[in-house]
Amino acid sequence: MKQSFLKKSFTALLSGIILMSGSGCSNIINMKSEDNKIHVVTTLFCYYDFARAIIGDTENIDLTLLLSPGMESHSFEPTPSDIIEIQQADVLLYNGGHMEYWVQEILDANKNKNNLAICMMDYTSLLEEETDNVITPHNHEHCEDESHHHDDDEHNHEEEHEIEYDEHIWSSPVIAINLVETICDAISEADIENSDIYHKNAEAYIKELQTLDNDFRSVIAKGKRDTLLFADKFPMLYFFKEYGLKYYAAFAGCSTDTEPSSATISNMIEKTKEESIPVVYYFEVSNPAVAEIISEETDAVPYVFQSCHTITQDDFNNGETYISLMKRNLEALKIGLQ
Ligand SMILES: [Zn+2]
Repeated sequence: MKQSFLKKSFTALLSGIILMSGSGCSNIINMKSEDNKIHVVTTLFCYYDFARAIIGDTENIDLTLLLSPGMESHSFEPTPSDIIEIQQADVLLYNGGHMEYWVQEILDANKNKNNLAICMMDYTSLLEEETDNVITPHNHEHCEDESHHHDDDEHNHEEEHEIEYDEHIWSSPVIAINLVETICDAISEADIENSDIYHKNAEAYIKELQTLDNDFRSVIAKGKRDTLLFADKFPMLYFFKEYGLKYYAAFAGCSTDTEPSSATISNMIEKTKEESIPVVYYFEVSNPAVAEIISEETDAVPYVFQSCHTITQDDFNNGETYISLMKRNLEALKIGLQ
């Protein structure tokens, strides 16, 4: 419900902007040529960070992070200046999927077809969202909700259910390596004269990602267990599949539900006790309250896991990166796999 309301107000905003640029706001259009730089715009922090590593000290490029530090990527709504920023970008790097439906709408309405818009989800094999490992007594809640829009009974509806792909592709360092290559190619295409520098920088950065990948493999190999419990959403599917880990979670993907029912919480407490789970995780973007409740009832300790959806303002100011945030997960895993 909330999303369709947002969608309506966003569409109204978008047509306003198009009207504005169509009526000859030449001062806005000239902004790009004034600084003589190639404008690269990214939606999420991870793509900003990858582009930053590839660009290095090269001064030809102006890099913009659209979702400011601390912004929630699933409820983000672009402002008029964000829309103009996207329309004027030479290179746009975005994730795609439901989370960023608004990017596609801006691109569809954009008359400037000269920009290079790269949807990261187009460059990787997508995984279907999973619900099997979700601890909830209401597994069919989702289908019942949607059946209001259809006349079919629930059985038919389930058969016709559209496949939902998980959008959190960056959570796997192995996929991140491919995405860095994709970003490097896009930036090199926009600034051919510095292409060698970008490829060299990307190569060095990929080596760091390979080290991170090896570190995860060795920590996981040394672990005594292979299942973690998240009293939270679960945006780490690609990471878990890559490393052969298993999980229990309160919600699949990035559900808009934020508070599990008391029955779900008591199921998680039971699971934690049954399997002597040492750590109950929550994500950097979430409230730790549910993890704390479970911790009070069991021997498990609450611990934060980094999904790298966004970055906090403090971490951003301290120069943290995708790699440094992911390294926190190495420590998180060492405790949770004991
Ligand atoms: Zn998410």
